[in-house]
Amino acid sequence: ATPTSIMVGTGRAAEFGVLFRKGDALQMLQETRVVALDKTGTLTEGRPELIDLITTNGFDEDNVLRLVAAVEAQSEHPIAEAITRAAAQRGLTEGQIEGFSSITGYGVEAIVDGKHILVGADRLMMRENIELADLDETGEALGRKGRTPLYAAINGHIAAVLAVSDPIKSSTPAAIEALHGLGLSVAMITGDHQGTADVIASELGIDHVVAEVLPEGKVAALEALRERGKLAFVGDGINDAPALATADVGIAIGTGTDVAIEAADVVLMSGDLTGVVNAFDISARTMRNIR
Ligand code: ADP
Ligand code: MG
Repeated sequence: ATPTSIMVGTGRAAEFGVLFRKGDALQMLQETRVVALDKTGTLTEGRPELIDLITTNGFDEDNVLRLVAAVEAQSEHPIAEAITRAAAQRGLTEGQIEGFSSITGYGVEAIVDGKHILVGADRLMMRENIELADLDETGEALGRKGRTPLYAAINGHIAAVLAVSDPIKSSTPAAIEALHGLGLSVAMITGDHQGTADVIASELGIDHVVAEVLPEGKVAALEALRERGKLAFVGDGINDAPALATADVGIAIGTGTDVAIEAADVVLMSGDLTGVVNAFDISARTMRNIR
């Protein structure tokens, strides 16, 4: 394509709310074979809600939620927001908190009212040698419903399984279908539970799922997918910035974090994934010099 057609292409893309920060991305999209997408906030709304809370070992529901919410009040993860919102809706008051720490990709911990509280993925409980007992299967069953299971332990004993649900964006199914229509293979990369990720991927007809990825593992996951051909990655979070920079074409959702936007080659003005399809469309037209 000529410099003029690139200029026309980027201009046209901007009219569709797709900002090409680098002209060569327009060309690179034509060579792309795989589109990998982050799940939370990209395929989904990124605003989970607490749906389930099942206690064990005689623990009281409201008491567990109160303790867990006190810890989550210190975290900025969307899951944390879902839990604190649910506690507020039940009118539960927060406890006295000390020594908060966030274990990236695993969960959070703190002392609340003198009790040691852990909240997070099953792998956090395994790391801390906490037996899930009967809640293991309960959590897996919640995962099979497409919800993210989280476990809470109090003073080293399993107390509850909680599950949050993050709705799929309304624009996602049609966007995935259109990407398939362009002959692209579609992958999803997430830190979420494997079972949960599998359900969401199968609902959307996604071809490859890479789940339970630690934040520092996203780039390695992308490198593995790259064996299938040139690769675009779509993401929104701070965690996604390294993957956006690594991909042949990094596409950031404009409603995402500044760090993601700065690392991207292409920025979508809205959270609507139709923008990804538009980017491919405009790239094809530009390369064929069609106006
Ligand atoms: P993603 O953005 O793909 O969900 P993260 O690395 O942020 O990936 O989180 C991975 C997993 O770690 C979550 O699905 C959850 O199980 C656990 N986790 C992370 N932060 C929290 C938190 N504040 N409270 C509970 N669990 C958490
Ligand atoms: Mg995200």
